[in-house]
Amino acid sequence: MHTRLTSVKAEMASSEHNPKPESGIRVFVRKRRLRKPQVITENIVKVEPQIITENIVKVEPQDQKFGSLPDIEEFAYKKPSISLPLRKSKPISNNNDKTEFKPPSDWVKILEGIREMRSLEDAPVDSMGCEKAGNSLPPKERRFAVLVSSLLSSQTKDNVTHGAIQRLLDNNLLNPETIDTADESAIQKLIYPVGFYTRKASNMKKIAKISLLNYHGDIPNTLEGLLSLPGIGPKMAHLVMNVAWNNVQGICVDTHVHRICNRLGWVPKTKTPEETREALQMWLPKEEWVPINPLLVGFGQTICTPLRPSCGLCSVNGLCPSAFQEATPKKKSRLKTELSES
Ligand code: SF4
Repeated sequence: MHTRLTSVKAEMASSEHNPKPESGIRVFVRKRRLRKPQVITENIVKVEPQIITENIVKVEPQDQKFGSLPDIEEFAYKKPSISLPLRKSKPISNNNDKTEFKPPSDWVKILEGIREMRSLEDAPVDSMGCEKAGNSLPPKERRFAVLVSSLLSSQTKDNVTHGAIQRLLDNNLLNPETIDTADESAIQKLIYPVGFYTRKASNMKKIAKISLLNYHGDIPNTLEGLLSLPGIGPKMAHLVMNVAWNNVQGICVDTHVHRICNRLGWVPKTKTPEETREALQMWLPKEEWVPINPLLVGFGQTICTPLRPSCGLCSVNGLCPSAFQEATPKKKSRLKTELSES
C-alpha cells in the first residue's frame, strides 16, 4: 500500500514538471477562457438580437487567438441601423388664434342697451374719471396729470381720487418739477385718503424723478415705458396710452369691466382683469376698446353693482345669463371688497 502511494505521488510530481497536452488542468483553463465571450453574447441577445449578430462575429472563439482575450472595443454597443418610430406630439391649441373665439351672441344688442341706460351720464366716472384729470392744462402737463391720477386711482373710488388730484393741482403739485422738490409727507397729506397713500406718495416722487431725467419732464409714450414706472400696472398703462397719447394698444380693464364681462358671459370665466382683457380683445372690435371702459365702469357704479346688481332696472336682463342670480356667500365677500374699491 505504501509503495502504491509513493508511486502515485511520484507520478503527480513528474506531470507538474512535464505537463502533457491531455492534462485535465490545461483543458479546464482553456475552456474558461473560451466561455467568456459566450456569456456576454447571451446577455446581449436579450436586448438587441439584430445587433448581436454583428458583434458575435468578432468574438467567435475560432477567431480568437488561442489564449488571448478579446479587445474591449469589440463589445462596444453599436447603434442599430434601423430607425425607431418617433413619438407623436400632442397638438397644442393656440390661444392667440382669433378664429377660435366667436363673439358672444347678442353682444351688439347688449351694448346698445347699456349705452341707452348710460345716456344720462350720471355715474361718478363721467365727471371724475382719470381721463378727466388736468382737462384744462396744456398737453404735456395734462399727460402727467393723467398718469398721476391713474396711479392714485388703484383701490380707490373715483370721487376720492378726484379730490386728491384737485388738492395737488391747487397746491401746484401736479407737475414733475414741484413733486421732485416737495416734501414726501406734504404729498401724503394732500392725497389722503386714497388707498395706500404713503406708498403712492413715494411712487409719485420716483416717477417725477424718472420723468425729469429720462423724458424731459414728460411721460413715456410706450406701453413698456409706462409699465416700467413704479406703481403702474397694465390697466393704468393702457388707460394712459389711450388718454394721454391717443394710442390704443389694449382695453383698460378694471374690476367693473372684469366683473360685468363675466356676468354677461362675454369672457370664459376669467379670474383676473388681465385675463379678461386678453379674452375681450379676442373678439371686441377695436373701435370699442376705448369707450368700453367708461361705459362699463359707469354701468357698474350705477346698475350692475358688485354686491346687489339692480337686475330689475336693467334693460338687458332678458339677454344676461346672470340676471337675478343670487351671489354665493364666497362671491359676496369678494364683491364686498370690490365695492369698497369702486
Ligand atoms: S341683468 Fe343684472 S347682472 Fe345682468 S347685466 Fe343687468 S344688472 Fe348686471
